[in-house]
Amino acid sequence: MTDNYLLLGAKKRLIEELRQKGITDENVLQAFDKVERHRFVESFLWDRAYDDVALKLLNGQTISHPFTVAFQSQLLQVSKGMTVLEIGTGSGFQAAILSAMGARVYSVERQQVLYQRTSKLLAQLDERIVTWYGDGFKGIPMYAPYDRVIVTCGAPDVPPALVQQLKPGGIMVIPVGDESHTMKRLTKMDDGNLQEEVFGDFLFVPMLKDAVRKK
Ligand code: SAH
Repeated sequence: MTDNYLLLGAKKRLIEELRQKGITDENVLQAFDKVERHRFVESFLWDRAYDDVALKLLNGQTISHPFTVAFQSQLLQVSKGMTVLEIGTGSGFQAAILSAMGARVYSVERQQVLYQRTSKLLAQLDERIVTWYGDGFKGIPMYAPYDRVIVTCGAPDVPPALVQQLKPGGIMVIPVGDESHTMKRLTKMDDGNLQEEVFGDFLFVPMLKDAVRKK
């Protein structure tokens, strides 16, 4: 009980911090209230779950900074009922935030161990999220086209399959680069061309080719 009470206080402070750092989309802030980030990390990390820091997951992967998750979610301009393709399921936290914002989320992870662990967790926490094991460079053609695409690993370039699977008028938010990653928002015009906006540099784990099997 005491633990829960402390975590609740920490969550409220995090939401205030996100507001101060420039998150204004109330739908995003409400999702941060609904989704409990501590459920997505190991219990020994619970006391840091609501700090605005990235935390280590299994297999050397990370759960992104809350600010980065909030910022990408805001750039994505999600409204209820939209379909969203996420590349890089990781902990499942970003997927849960988008689902809490009312989106139907399809999320791909290339590491089988993470895919299995997170699929189990998401099935308990939010059964609406569809998880998929595979290479995000290929997207998920089966459920395409999507209203929105969000890439949560640092991409070397914009994968053509993801552009193809985006609806006309749809938006993709993707960090692009080699060492640091420039946050880009791409809007697909009716003629198929992309309109690009740029929103500063971030650090992500790299987007790597091919799915990796559990050893
Ligand atoms: N959205 C996640 C962020 C996790 S870090 C969260 O909220 O926790 C990025 C994730 O992208 C890692 O789990 C990594 O394994 C995955 N990834 C990297 N390249 C990928 C690819 N080509 N396809 C799918 N996932 C990929």
